[in-house]
Amino acid sequence: MFTYIDPSIRERLEEQGKLFQIDVDGVRVPAHHAVTRGPAISLLGPIPLPLKLCDLAINVDWYACVRRTELGKLEEIADELRAQQGQALFATLASSMAVNSVLIVGDPSRWQNPLVRVHSSCLTGDVFGSERCECGPQLASALDKIRQDEQGGMVIYMSGHEGRGIGLWAKAATYLLQDGGEDTYQANRSLGLPDDSRDFSDAGSLLKFFVKDQPFRLLTNNPKKIHDLEKMGITKITRVKHVTGVTDTNRRYLSAKQNWGHELTPEDLDAE
Ligand SMILES: [Zn+2]
Repeated sequence: MFTYIDPSIRERLEEQGKLFQIDVDGVRVPAHHAVTRGPAISLLGPIPLPLKLCDLAINVDWYACVRRTELGKLEEIADELRAQQGQALFATLASSMAVNSVLIVGDPSRWQNPLVRVHSSCLTGDVFGSERCECGPQLASALDKIRQDEQGGMVIYMSGHEGRGIGLWAKAATYLLQDGGEDTYQANRSLGLPDDSRDFSDAGSLLKFFVKDQPFRLLTNNPKKIHDLEKMGITKITRVKHVTGVTDTNRRYLSAKQNWGHELTPEDLDAE
């Protein structure tokens, strides 16, 4: 798999305003302008997506988002190969560029205090429906709450956050360690990896672009997430508790999160 957009299509999308970049402060920067401060993000969208998740049906506008630097490197390789007529090699090239997603519900220009979820990708929970964690129900419930909310809001889906930032391969190993008795954080440490290495800076830039300087409500139980966003100057955050999907199979995992600092009460863990 090689991420590639033909340059002529790229230009057309830029002219249409559907491929654009923002700087670290969420300010839109004209195409081809050098971004001087912080990592810039390229966005493709809005792309209408009619979603159907179990009983939930919702129309969202999707934006695909990548780091400008990562995309630039790939485009350089692609341009070189194309110049050498080596386009066939695209089939054998792999690109591991992290593509984050923004799902918008409603009209951001009307937002005053939207409901927001910054969701870390979890293939096993979000896609396979694994009950080792509660990620799948948290994502579906966030979209449902945003759909029902007067203001609407957005989900920022962070693709590089699998296993709190250690990646899917290492996460698979932590599951085997957890089955040997370790908790989710101990298992990361046993692999020589941090408890939580998620980087929320791209989420911060996207929030600055879409929410501007408005206050917003954030669906999370994790104070560290709020702390990380505050460090980026995003301070008008009201935390909204987001407990759902508690089952016998993930109660121990949630209890480890609670001990680590997630704001969960004993009653939350008794639920469902
Ligand atoms: Zn999960």
